[in-house]
Amino acid sequence: MTRDYLSGSSPPPGQAPQAGAATNGVACVAFSTESPHGSRGDSPLTDLARLLRRSGFPSRVFHVHLHPSDGKENDRRVQRLVERLIGERCRWAVFHEIWTAELGRQLHAAGIGLIEMRSHTFPEAIFSDGPDLLTHVSACGTGQSLDELTNLVEIIGPLETRPVTAVDLRLQQSCGYTRSLADNPFYQGILDDPEMAAHKGCAHCMNARPDQRLVPVQVAERIVERIRNDRRVFPHLETIWMPFAETFYDSLAIALRTTHGDPVWRDLTLVMQCRPDVIAQRAEEIEAVAADAAASGTQLKIGVVGFENFSPPEILVLNRGATPDELDRAAVILNRWSAQPPPGLVVRGFTPSFILFTPWTRIEDLEVNLHRIARHGLWQANIERLRVGPGTPAYERARRDGLVLDGSVRAASHPNGYTSEREIRFADPLVAAVSAGFERLRPLAHSEQPELLAGVLAAVAAAPDPAGIDWDGVARAWEDVGSAARTL
Ligand code: SF4
Repeated sequence: MTRDYLSGSSPPPGQAPQAGAATNGVACVAFSTESPHGSRGDSPLTDLARLLRRSGFPSRVFHVHLHPSDGKENDRRVQRLVERLIGERCRWAVFHEIWTAELGRQLHAAGIGLIEMRSHTFPEAIFSDGPDLLTHVSACGTGQSLDELTNLVEIIGPLETRPVTAVDLRLQQSCGYTRSLADNPFYQGILDDPEMAAHKGCAHCMNARPDQRLVPVQVAERIVERIRNDRRVFPHLETIWMPFAETFYDSLAIALRTTHGDPVWRDLTLVMQCRPDVIAQRAEEIEAVAADAAASGTQLKIGVVGFENFSPPEILVLNRGATPDELDRAAVILNRWSAQPPPGLVVRGFTPSFILFTPWTRIEDLEVNLHRIARHGLWQANIERLRVGPGTPAYERARRDGLVLDGSVRAASHPNGYTSEREIRFADPLVAAVSAGFERLRPLAHSEQPELLAGVLAAVAAAPDPAGIDWDGVARAWEDVGSAARTL
């Protein structure tokens, strides 16, 4: 029998819930983008829904899985979400952030109360990032504890729904990289702002604050508990992403050693997003953790390595703290591991990630990075522009330099911890021309970004008027060549 989770009671067998009956459900709504391999789940919202049910509040997680590029299909999925929430007569919808104002308007017009937990983006929503959330939804209480897991998750995705196969391992733990700005000459001019003076970690990221450090034994227990719980909620789970892998090396080693043989690990892949300087410093320990993982029936995978930038002035801009020498050593280790993988460690196919465009980038910074990419054969690099949001030193310095554009504010549930992203401009017009060309053509060259950047740099260097290059025309010509080649 299907439980009417939003009313907290089960309808009699064979009967739909009574139309128009008062219901008191709390829907927790998560959004994630599908990858070709599976769909990602949202552990924090799932934990919240379970807590609500334990506390007697009917609740369920609606996971909206978005297509990476098909906007119309995504509109249909969001519409299906609205229909489901109205159809289930839920009273409240809880979001990290309401996905779009239009979604907020539709739910508000349908009489559904809205709560945002990470930032307040929709005026009619209540902002609640603590226990007062239970007070807001108190009228929904049934007074009796409800089953935690039955029908806990509903996927709103492609018509042929895929289950959740991946989650992030997040234990409310801050990033372990805590370098301040005190000895960084690039940021001396903004240290009159107490918030900037107190900043720790990379200059575009808030994840090293607040400082929440646990001892490795505590983290080890939480890792095991987290994975055990997530496997109960998401039975098709295959992949656990570890966003700040370096904060887990010690605790993961303890967790694997102390639970050897526990089925909690079996047939999982733990995918790590790594700092290369930590790889350079702790390669042997990573190999040992991988061997322990293999002995427990799971594997460790290097997913993303954040090289970010080889050029010393840009390393200061990012307050990255990783020297070019360490980056070189990491690249050598990764290439060795790719050729001869240590037991339990999957390295081949990892993504070297680069932030090559900051507001202060110079042409020679781009050239230094392309040179190092070529030297180490990192041709699979993903090349990004620096994304800045308020509260970060990169934003504050750019603002004071007049390099933040007024106007558009992009909502972003960004992994770097801020929630709105601002457009920047470049101090050097030549770099602006290179960035414009690279951004316009990048969708046409998914896996050849360094080669594309080299080509765009050459075109800008040769152009009499770099700002006037017709990149749309280049893109059209490129597409025409591609179409002609496909008909051969
Ligand atoms: S960018 Fe990564 S390494 Fe830097 S502070 Fe953020 S989480 Fe830590």
